[in-house]
Formats: sequence, structure tokens, C-alpha cells
Amino acid sequence: MNDCLFCKIIAGEIPADQVYSDDQVLVFKDINPQANVHLLMVPKIHIASLDELTSEHDSVIAHMIRQLPQLAKEQGLEDGFRTIINTGKGGGQVVFHLHIHLLGGKNLPGFG
Ligand code: 5GP
Ligand code: ZN
Repeated sequence: MNDCLFCKIIAGEIPADQVYSDDQVLVFKDINPQANVHLLMVPKIHIASLDELTSEHDSVIAHMIRQLPQLAKEQGLEDGFRTIINTGKGGGQVVFHLHIHLLGGKNLPGFG
């Protein structure tokens, strides 16, 4: 956990362009955006990936999902948005702190 990039962002040790924070989650802009809007939502507790989830995490996961529509609207994504969770190396996960990609707007892959 000490070596975790997103834990360091949560701790304020590495800067990030933050857009939302509460007691359970932090949301910041992806450093390499794949669409006009590309945010990353992370739980403030370290969870490596979906593979690590237990029933103890139910409330934080529900909280994260529930924040997404409001967050998308605040980003101007009135028409909808895309969420992606990459899990494990085979799923393309590069940072092993669970995160939800929130994408939308112009340049969303597949929607020109
Ligand atoms: P993954 O492939 O693990 O689902 O996605 C990791 C994401 O984290 C990538 O989209 C990548 O651009 C983003 N990322 C990697 N390092 C940093 C960083 O230092 N700051 C921010 N804001 N995003 C990062
Ligand atoms: Zn972490």
C-alpha cells in the first residue's frame, strides 16, 4: 500500500487535479485523458482491485456508484457517460488501487 500511486494522491503526496472529495471517495482527472471528460474515482481506503472485494466493502462501493450520475452531470455530460473498471493485468489494469474511469463528451471512443 505504501507504494501505491493513488494512495499517495489521496494523501496529498502527489498532486492531482481533484474534482470531488468526500469522506469515502476522491475523484480526479486522468493524467492521460481518452475523452474530453476522463475522471478517475477511487475509494479512500486501499483496495487493489475488484478481485479484493469482500462484503466489508459493500457500502463504499455502493457509495461510489451512487455518486457517478451527479458527477457526470456536473461535468456537463447530460446525455450520458461511460464507466470502466479494469481488473488485473489481463483486464488492462495498470494501477492496482481500485478505480472507476468516468468518460464522456466529445472524442469518446466509438462515438466520434
Ligand atoms: P488502469 O489501466 O489501471 O485502469 O488505469 C490507470 C489510469 O491512471 C490510466 O488511465 C492513467 O492515465 C492514469 N494515471 C496513471 N498515473 C497517473 C497519475 O499520476 N495521475 C493521474 N491523474 N492519473 C494517472
Ligand atoms: Zn492505494
